[in-house]
Amino acid sequence: MPAFSKRIAGLNGGGDDGWGLFIRARQMKDAGQPVLELTIGEHDTRTAPDILDAMMTSARGGHTGYAAVPGTDALRAAVAKRLSTFSDLAYGPENILITPGGQSALFAAHSLACDPGDTALMIDPHYATYPGTIRGVSAVPKPVVAHPEDGFQPREADLMAASEGARSLLINTPNNPTGAVYSDATLDGIARVAEARDLWVISDEVYDSQVWDGRHRPFASLPGMFARTLSVGSLSKSHAMTGSRLGWVAGPAQAIAHLINLATNTTYGVPGYIQDAGLYALSLGAEAEAAVAAPFRRRRDMVLSRLEGQQAIGAIPPAGAMYVMLDIRATGLSGEAFGEALLDEELVAVMPGESFGTAAAGHIRVALTLPDDVFEVALDRLFAFAARRIGAAAEATG
Ligand code: PMP
Repeated sequence: MPAFSKRIAGLNGGGDDGWGLFIRARQMKDAGQPVLELTIGEHDTRTAPDILDAMMTSARGGHTGYAAVPGTDALRAAVAKRLSTFSDLAYGPENILITPGGQSALFAAHSLACDPGDTALMIDPHYATYPGTIRGVSAVPKPVVAHPEDGFQPREADLMAASEGARSLLINTPNNPTGAVYSDATLDGIARVAEARDLWVISDEVYDSQVWDGRHRPFASLPGMFARTLSVGSLSKSHAMTGSRLGWVAGPAQAIAHLINLATNTTYGVPGYIQDAGLYALSLGAEAEAAVAAPFRRRRDMVLSRLEGQQAIGAIPPAGAMYVMLDIRATGLSGEAFGEALLDEELVAVMPGESFGTAAAGHIRVALTLPDDVFEVALDRLFAFAARRIGAAAEATG
């Protein structure tokens, strides 16, 4: 067999990129074990039936051929309108490329920003696919650590120190895995760094409908930032449409024109009936998005109320997104060891903090994605497990 390209062979950077525990949990579940999965960001509800009806009506109406590559005019306009509700930026269809999910949008944005060998910054902890996405365009991922003691908000000084010669900075607020929503001070600091270093900012805002404290502030809306920002969005999280693969890149029209070229030569667009379903979903407005988000807010509060009166687990209350990052350092275990033992002893699967880089070591990420009653059972087991471990740790040292 001929050799594989270095780019493809090196995509995962040598490790399993943290998916090992997730895969083991899936295998146990497939083998019939009653594993409670709090791993990936997949809603426990499915896409709403009326959205599926819109999809079916469109498909039956003949929208099954090649669709317009940048996205249908109507959907681009609807996404532009939605983005305009978050700020006073006046987006038009020419500022939007419809993509197969936010993931594809992240790849497209990095393709635009980076040449082979360029440094692409990202914040650690980070969403699991970020390094691979960056390597996928032959750029070099460079993590900048955000510390738990700062609520996982990146420091301006760290960004400034790391960014000399870099081409892009990938940020994500509301954040997966930490649940942090970047403060005005953090965003202002990032803007100063972007300006000073002439960076593209790739702003992953796929959780913009899930903000529990404060409000979502799009990075492109900061003074002077629109011209250097590629915003990534998706209907996956806001409308429980993960499987529909419907997202976008929003940015300056000249940037989008280049990305349309890329899409023509790679994805050739998104199926028309999926786009029509997305158009219908967006027509339901903010209320429908709030309804999809509500269970996560509720379960986030269920976790936080458990933290009182125990010592084994700590947390920074997440201000957004469908996860809680729990600090389990008091148990003396790494996130990975905690996750493995929790799966074996309690049949509860979580993601080790180490899956998301170095900064979340000693943490686990809990996805808020089981129905409330089952979620309570998973929390019972998780907290009981941690209490046992802290007891064992105390005995060992005492
Ligand atoms: N960014 C972040 C931070 C995510 O958590 C995810 C999915 N979990 C994505 C992007 C990609 O989402 P999708 O491709 O489904 O839009």
